[in-house]
Amino acid sequence: MKRGPYASRWEPVLSEAAPTHLRAATRLVTSGAVRWKAWDGNGWKAVVERSGTRRAFDVWLPKLADYAPHARDVARWLAMRPDWLAAHHAGEWDESFLDFLCAHQVEVVPTRETLARLRALSTCTCEETDPLCPHVLAVLLVLIGEAERSPLAAFRMVGIEVERLLDLAQEETAAIAGATGASRRGDLGEASGALGAWNPEVWCRDVEVRPLGKMRPITNPGIRP
Ligand SMILES: [Zn+2]
Repeated sequence: MKRGPYASRWEPVLSEAAPTHLRAATRLVTSGAVRWKAWDGNGWKAVVERSGTRRAFDVWLPKLADYAPHARDVARWLAMRPDWLAAHHAGEWDESFLDFLCAHQVEVVPTRETLARLRALSTCTCEETDPLCPHVLAVLLVLIGEAERSPLAAFRMVGIEVERLLDLAQEETAAIAGATGASRRGDLGEASGALGAWNPEVWCRDVEVRPLGKMRPITNPGIRP
């Protein structure tokens, strides 16, 4: 399987899963065994066919973190970086977007904790004792594959749907355009200080200092469906 920029970030994490399970998962994905999946608010439910039989397994994967309350923050980044938004629409990962997400430790880019979380919370109805069984890994590979082809889909793993993100990005783009217009007219008043921090030009010039700082995800390992 050819790995794109996003899937490559998962490689060190996936390498900690059992190689035989990973190979089996890859075969399941290739054969279209992941029949159905749906977001349930806390994670992904899925049905994975057992190869060569009519049996199927019910799989559940936890969300990697809860960024739903931060959807507008993410939308603001996109409003300030239309090139990132354009890359999403082109179905490509912008390297600077990926680096930005890594720098902010946004959990759509996996860390060692990601696998620990998946191992601790994922469930499957197969007999395998390793929670990272081929079926759980197959669903994960499908999600990674979708995010590779549609970057903002990576946020589905932390609880933000692509459509919501695009809607909010549109609102934020309009807000920034409005603020720029007002600032040009010189009638910004008291809001200018706060909005000054959002100036995309300043933001892009000094990449070390960003307006938002690091987002704090809300994780609750106890959350189960
Ligand atoms: Zn399984």
